[in-house]
Amino acid sequence: MSERGSIIYLEGVTVDFDGFKALRNLNFIVDYRELRVVIGPNGAGKTTLLDVISGKVKPVAGRVVFGKDTDLIGLQEHEIATLGIGRKFQTPSVYSNLSVWENLDLSLKRTSKGVFATLVSKPDRAEIEKIASTLETIGLTEKADDRAGALSHGEKQWLEIGMVLLQDPALLLIDEPVAGMTDRETEQTGLLLQSLADRRSIIVIEHDMEFVRQIARTVTVLHEGTVLCEGPVEKVQADPRVVEIYLGRQKEADAAAAR
Ligand code: ADP
Ligand code: MG
Repeated sequence: MSERGSIIYLEGVTVDFDGFKALRNLNFIVDYRELRVVIGPNGAGKTTLLDVISGKVKPVAGRVVFGKDTDLIGLQEHEIATLGIGRKFQTPSVYSNLSVWENLDLSLKRTSKGVFATLVSKPDRAEIEKIASTLETIGLTEKADDRAGALSHGEKQWLEIGMVLLQDPALLLIDEPVAGMTDRETEQTGLLLQSLADRRSIIVIEHDMEFVRQIARTVTVLHEGTVLCEGPVEKVQADPRVVEIYLGRQKEADAAAAR
């Protein structure tokens, strides 16, 4: 795949749920090795955007192009995954009764062998090295033999990121990774995502503004299914429309939570 131009390109994308337009004529472009943060109030269409890229939801209009010229519109979810688009969902999906290592091992071979065959087969050296280096990346080397169910919430999220990384995606989609994490876990996650973006593109959806400030280079603000504004985090935060629709609501929510 050529590394010039954008890794993902959406043009004029509209998603219609029985008359309700979750995305309206959306244009959205992410470059190679870019870490893009997408923010916006609840219902803005953030998750739907990831659903369109990963093929779960099909638009009624528009183009979705991966890499130089791969049209994703006609492809199934699993075909899109195979092309190199990895998705980490909001809710954890690790096998609690298996160890951290076994979870990674399963993810590495899921596509080729299936669960049972994976558990009884001996991993080869290349596979062992791949899993070990992934453990290093996600900071769970010391916990390789621990039961996944015994991990903290944050550690489970990292394990899942590791499981997606073993598929070696060129584009990684992550929906609200730091929800429920401690401050320290949140910061660690920011460092992790930044290091991952050296080699691949990442689209991360997030609510936590502290986290957004920590990791963001370019931020896209979605509102009612379309891009309200886009740019460096400082510029976006200072945009009065963003303050109005997003940060203003955040303040209201914070004030309500404090009462
Ligand atoms: P966000 O992730 O920004 O909070 P979503 O992309 O999940 O927003 O949803 C955007 C809008 O589309 C919301 O109003 C939501 O209720 C609606 N929506 C999402 N998925 C569906 C669906 N499968 N059927 C009908 N409406 C949906
Ligand atoms: Mg969402």
